Amino acid sequence: MQYVSTRGSAPVLAFDEVVLTGLARDGGLYVPETWPQLSADQLRSLRRLTYPELAARILALFAEPEIPEAELALLAEEAYIDFDGYPDPAPLKPIGGNLHLLELFHGPTLAFKDYALQLLGRLFDLVLARRGERVTIIGATSGDTGSAAIDACRDRDTLEIFMLHPNGRVSEVQRRQMTTVKADNVHNIAVDGTFDDCQALVKTVFNDEPFRDRFRLAAVNSINWARIATQIVYYVHAALALGAPEREVAFVVPTGNFGNVFAAYAARRMGVPIRRLAIASNRNDILTRFFATGTMRTGPVFATLSPSMDIQVSSNFERYLFELYDRDAAAVRSAMQQLRDTGAFSVDPARVAQASAMFLARSADDDATRAAIRSVHEEHGMLIDPHTAVGVAAARELAAELGDDVPVVCVATAHPAKFPDAIAAATGIRPDLPERLADLLVRPEHCQSMANDADALRDTIARTMHTRGAKP
Ligand SMILES: *Cc1c(COP(=O)(O)O)cnc(C)c1O
Repeated sequence: MQYVSTRGSAPVLAFDEVVLTGLARDGGLYVPETWPQLSADQLRSLRRLTYPELAARILALFAEPEIPEAELALLAEEAYIDFDGYPDPAPLKPIGGNLHLLELFHGPTLAFKDYALQLLGRLFDLVLARRGERVTIIGATSGDTGSAAIDACRDRDTLEIFMLHPNGRVSEVQRRQMTTVKADNVHNIAVDGTFDDCQALVKTVFNDEPFRDRFRLAAVNSINWARIATQIVYYVHAALALGAPEREVAFVVPTGNFGNVFAAYAARRMGVPIRRLAIASNRNDILTRFFATGTMRTGPVFATLSPSMDIQVSSNFERYLFELYDRDAAAVRSAMQQLRDTGAFSVDPARVAQASAMFLARSADDDATRAAIRSVHEEHGMLIDPHTAVGVAAARELAAELGDDVPVVCVATAHPAKFPDAIAAATGIRPDLPERLADLLVRPEHCQSMANDADALRDTIARTMHTRGAKP
């Protein structure tokens, strides 16, 4: 499969190159040149596959011929073998009527990002080993991304990872999931500053071309196409379990930057019968406002009970915009230019109506989030995390709209024990960490603190780089 940029002027790339490339050179995001198609018969034949086998089959549609399915099968098997519930790490749990939760928190760091990053780390390794190259991954995190990326990169010969987090501003569970990893190629840096400061530092060193080239800097954020491709798998898996291709399903996705919900949209474009998709946001409701008004306008970021969705720029929305404009890259370029210049862009009413036929966008504030946590606990005896709770509020509305024929699946994006304070406030119960993480709070931590200063970051990278393979 070849990949094109949403802005039309970056070079067309093959899959292995797209894995290593974040943002396209023209500022756009890479998307597949065409959507691979799964016929009803092909979908039926996928039913007998285990989750790792399905992952290899779906990913092969995007990765062949550069990476054959047999190689992907080995990576997928290894990626998911330590997940709870293996070989089915993505179980569905009924929560009354036609509603189901799709639990995506059975990986090593208890959030859905593990499902993509465990495979992505191995894909990086495979592609880089073939080329005899190494890269240095640099990222900033407010919590979940950092721990999932560190776990996916630990002990990989071709990768070195530096992860910045704001000192004292991530939860203890989130911090310890990063800092208790002991591996020579993992470097945690606590920055005296905010998450935005961390992001700005990362940006500064990325924009320093000689430095970027010297250390072969790379990113694993959600603009990487391979992350989206691996997220398609669990939507196909859930749809098949609920009767696809004979029966339609609907998904509700708690989302911040539109990455996870775009993967569900991609599944639909590939032939999975998905009736509707709901986008669930917290008080940071830029997407809800877009669907209500046709205008995407950035605003201030509010801190909420669901911090991994406290985002005001939905970077992956650009991929959907490209589709909505029938792949007219000039139209995408102009919308993004307007967003940069004026903080907003508008889409014509006919296209907004077309988008609204597919997507339902809803937001839930902290009160509604707590109410959803409490009611799922009272009615079904289950604890759900605050991100999932934002989804459940929207899922109930969607289920009422669709009636009995279409099962509605809400993606459960994190384990409740990652956010014990919010759960305790809503239910009076503090959820326990799973057995394998029970000693997390007493494990030794490995972390260096650093001033909010780009030179300090350059120095830290140059000084602590572990060089197992060739020197960069
Ligand atoms: C990252 C994250 C989200 C948001 O995912 P997007 O890719 O931004 O849609 C939701 N919930 C949790 C728990 C997360 O870690």
